[in-house]
Amino acid sequence: MSEASPDIKGIRKAAAIIKEGGIVVFPTETVYGIGANAFDGNACLRIFELKGREQDNPLIVHVSSINMAEKVAVIPKMYKKILGNVWPAPLTVILKARKGIPKSVTAGLRTVAVRMPDNKIALRLIEESGTPIAAPSANISKRPSSTRASHAIKYFYGKADAIIDAGSSRFGIESTVIDLDNFELLRPGAFSVDGIEKLFGRKLKIYGTQEKRGYVAKPKSPGMKYMHYAPLTPIFLFNGDIRSIGNATKPYAGRFIFIGSDESCKIAKRYAKDTIGIGRREDVDVIAHNLFDALIRLDGKTSEFAVIECFGEEGIGLALMNRIRKACSYKSFTDADSLIKLVG
Ligand code: AMP
Ligand code: MG
Repeated sequence: MSEASPDIKGIRKAAAIIKEGGIVVFPTETVYGIGANAFDGNACLRIFELKGREQDNPLIVHVSSINMAEKVAVIPKMYKKILGNVWPAPLTVILKARKGIPKSVTAGLRTVAVRMPDNKIALRLIEESGTPIAAPSANISKRPSSTRASHAIKYFYGKADAIIDAGSSRFGIESTVIDLDNFELLRPGAFSVDGIEKLFGRKLKIYGTQEKRGYVAKPKSPGMKYMHYAPLTPIFLFNGDIRSIGNATKPYAGRFIFIGSDESCKIAKRYAKDTIGIGRREDVDVIAHNLFDALIRLDGKTSEFAVIECFGEEGIGLALMNRIRKACSYKSFTDADSLIKLVG
């Protein structure tokens, strides 16, 4: 189905599964989610089992109205109007959790992550279920998120109780997570920092150095401490000028896969075994949209390792580079010597 022509019968079937304590994979505007009734602790525990997710990494609760959000969390008056206006949107807020939210959802924290997804199928599913849906991204833990139904099917066919196929996600990058209490950015995402600062009329605190945005020794958000988005093929970030990619990869000529903008692929294809173009350099939204798909496709090819290039960190570029750095486990190189140290 698609947002333009949703299969209401199908959505109702999926909602019945949620009501009965089942697990449904569903589309959102960011990435696919794997969800369960947020008030059903056992159903939510199954999500952790299916994903192989550490139990101290809490879930985002998806709602379809502000009223529903208030059943999950305490929303300070000053934020209620703002959230009411901006939602549905790829913006997740951390708020004080209401009693009754199971421990498996909050990972035992006193706070809970809440958002209203900007996708008609997701909203209808939540409405028809009559309950908020706790849902992390629909991927095996630490692996790239599903930005297409086909990815989620690969991960969860025969495991989840239903998978709603609605093609490709609009953004392809997860939501931005902010802590409203300290007004801090916990995870850059599809909603820009600029957009948040305009919306709330305040400067957002951002962790970490430029290199390791969102990386802190003592994580403020449980998800920060885990490895993320990693393909099975080792992948390294090229931090240099694309015109020097030939020199920087010389010892491994023809042995690696290059992921980058279409323009850079044209240059890199002379030196790489294969290239995966993810959009024109100026179309950062398209590049962000295609990143996870490229990381998943990478594992369908065989190569010793892969190289991915750097992008600017403006707008969605901040989230894009956050995902790329994590996928590379923060391993980067600028020349042949530093690449040899990484590849061995
Ligand atoms: P995922 O749904 O897999 O995209 O991950 C959800 C993200 O939200 C993870 O990074 C979590 O650590 C973060 N998160 C969820 N609940 C909380 C919370 N109560 N406090 C801080 N971070 C949270
Ligand atoms: Mg995730």
